[in-house]
Amino acid sequence: MSFDNKVALVTGAGSGIGEAISKELAGLGVRVVLADIDEAGAQRVADEIAAKEGTAIPFKADSASPDDNEKAVAFALRTYGKLNYAVNNAGIGGNAAPTGEVDIENWDRVIDINLNGVLYAMRYQIPAMLDAGAAECAIVNMASIHGSVAAIGNSAYTAAKHGVVGLTKNAAAEYGPKGLRINCVGPAYIATPLLDNLSEEVRAELVARHPLGRLGKAEEVAKVVRFLLSDDASFVSGSYYLVDGGYTTI
Ligand code: NAD
Repeated sequence: MSFDNKVALVTGAGSGIGEAISKELAGLGVRVVLADIDEAGAQRVADEIAAKEGTAIPFKADSASPDDNEKAVAFALRTYGKLNYAVNNAGIGGNAAPTGEVDIENWDRVIDINLNGVLYAMRYQIPAMLDAGAAECAIVNMASIHGSVAAIGNSAYTAAKHGVVGLTKNAAAEYGPKGLRINCVGPAYIATPLLDNLSEEVRAELVARHPLGRLGKAEEVAKVVRFLLSDDASFVSGSYYLVDGGYTTI
């Protein structure tokens, strides 16, 4: 059965969408490793999960570091004995600038976390999942609507998220024959701390771009991730699931 006696690793688990996904999984009885560069955030989420009788443990890791990704998987195996699910969610927005004025350091940081971090994660998660029995495992990577449409003024974010969609398809094609399912999701604008710095004017403009007339909630993304990890999605692999309130229809 889905979620019985399962272990998950969620990156960027200390806030926003990763927090909601971690709480959703813990609520189903999954033991969750909460990886985040922000140790205090991951600890807070672990405490809140424990207060609801769930099982989760924080782990400080920089998703942009191959070494930290390897250590996060080793920590999951050491702590809970195996790894069944991974949600590679850690990401940043980066600074805005049109492509002809991009700050190269900012470009590198966004690509390192939002794209390279997903590859580094799967590089170590997949062997652990093959050991656990691939049919008992699944991966969901966090893309964005900007895995299919432009984020004007943020080419690094768009390039990274398009890369996540491609990387997901490649890995799904490679490991499908072993029974391992790998998917990604494409949220539109979700009300999380990532959007905290937006002015009211920009926020209203963003809302207007969603036919459903509002921003999404982290919990609404978590529900789709839960589906993709579950046995209900047993014939779903290599997909890019939009959770976008209709954003990409117009
Ligand atoms: P958030 O800022 O609320 O949470 C991101 C978390 O990732 C934080 O806890 C942060 O500490 C962590 N993090 C940042 N850099 C890290 C690193 N180098 N290593 C490990 N952890 C790191 O943001 P969010 O809105 O929850 O975003 C989560 C993911 O969802 C990101 O990949 C983002 O691109 C994607 N996303 C967000 C939206 C949105 O509108 N909020 C829309 C589509 C996709």
